[in-house]
Amino acid sequence: MGFLDISNVIKSYGKVEVLHRVDIAVEEGEFLVLVGPSGCGKSTLLNMIAGLEGITSGDISIKGRVINGVHPSRRNIAMVFQSYALYPNMTVGQNMTFGLEMHGVPKPERDRALAEVAKLLQIDHLLDRKPGQLSGGQRQRVAMGRALVRDPDVFLFDEPLSNLDAKLRVDMRTEIKKLHQKLKTTIVYVTHDQIEAMTLSTRIAVMNKGYVQQLGTPKEIYDTPSNVFVATFMGSPAMNIVPAKVVPVNGAPHAEVSGADGKPVRLKFSQPNLGEWSGKDILLGIRPETITDAEGADRKSTNIVSMKNLAGVTEPAGSDTFVTMTLGGKDIVARMSADCEVRTGQQFDFAVNMEKAVAFDPQTEERIRP
Ligand code: ADP
Ligand code: MG
Repeated sequence: MGFLDISNVIKSYGKVEVLHRVDIAVEEGEFLVLVGPSGCGKSTLLNMIAGLEGITSGDISIKGRVINGVHPSRRNIAMVFQSYALYPNMTVGQNMTFGLEMHGVPKPERDRALAEVAKLLQIDHLLDRKPGQLSGGQRQRVAMGRALVRDPDVFLFDEPLSNLDAKLRVDMRTEIKKLHQKLKTTIVYVTHDQIEAMTLSTRIAVMNKGYVQQLGTPKEIYDTPSNVFVATFMGSPAMNIVPAKVVPVNGAPHAEVSGADGKPVRLKFSQPNLGEWSGKDILLGIRPETITDAEGADRKSTNIVSMKNLAGVTEPAGSDTFVTMTLGGKDIVARMSADCEVRTGQQFDFAVNMEKAVAFDPQTEERIRP
């Protein structure tokens, strides 16, 4: 049993079930990120933890106590919304301590909590201003501060950075991570941004269409995605998925795909049980960064396979160069080093790290496990 337990939780609006049997046990001090496309049910799940939405069936408990029927104000949870929801007529200080006042916390204690959190978030010089006199990033800090002063069991964040510009979003992301490392609080954080999920979380729940598709550490999710949805949602540019056939070469299973000129390319698998798939179609998953030039290939890998193919469009991106090519009839992307000598329209010897390749069942789109 976790610190925060979501057990068999279903949510329906009328006849429509929008969350299907969600089971997540969150440990104390964990940073759990719920990630998925818009409409997949992230906010609904978060709102059920907060008590802002009823639970159709199943249980949510904190420290072993079922909170399904407990009023939001009595759950000892603090929430930071995307919109910040600050009171425009109150000062920053009042916004931050209003909740404590409502809970009957005496003034000296409120002042102490305010001073401590304001210092932590570096907003102590803003306490007398109104929200209208703050920048977006400052408002975001105030919204977090208001949650922090309450010292709750669990923090809930719903897309707290999505109203900030790109640069500020990255800065605040780092700050939230630092804050978590310092305070070791239990956090459930909703975002549609897979990079935020990867960088912030201790574990990620990838959601789609009301289902938790996979629950795991960022590394597990990235390296061993459960299915094609998770594989392509997490990572940018997305994992390349190409139709392939498993063929044995000297007894070892290879992926056979057609190259740009239509000639077959054979890539040796590291996964031995794919031999059972000999003669069958699969979907081959290869991440862009595992297709490089020979010098750029991962030296720790025991299975770098060379692949001659025609380089398509090359896009220098400063630190890397992205190269598109056709493989298995699909446009795929390779992420090469910035100074590699690849030219559009020329044959090139790509190095593919097949140790990192994954294979999916084309029918179910589930990963074929080793
Ligand atoms: P997300 O936060 O992942 O974008 P939501 O949790 O807001 O998704 O929504 C999940 C699904 O539930 C969506 O299909 C949405 O249309 C539906 N939904 C959310 N709130 C309501 C509501 N009050 N009544 C009916 N359907 C709703
Ligand atoms: Mg939402």
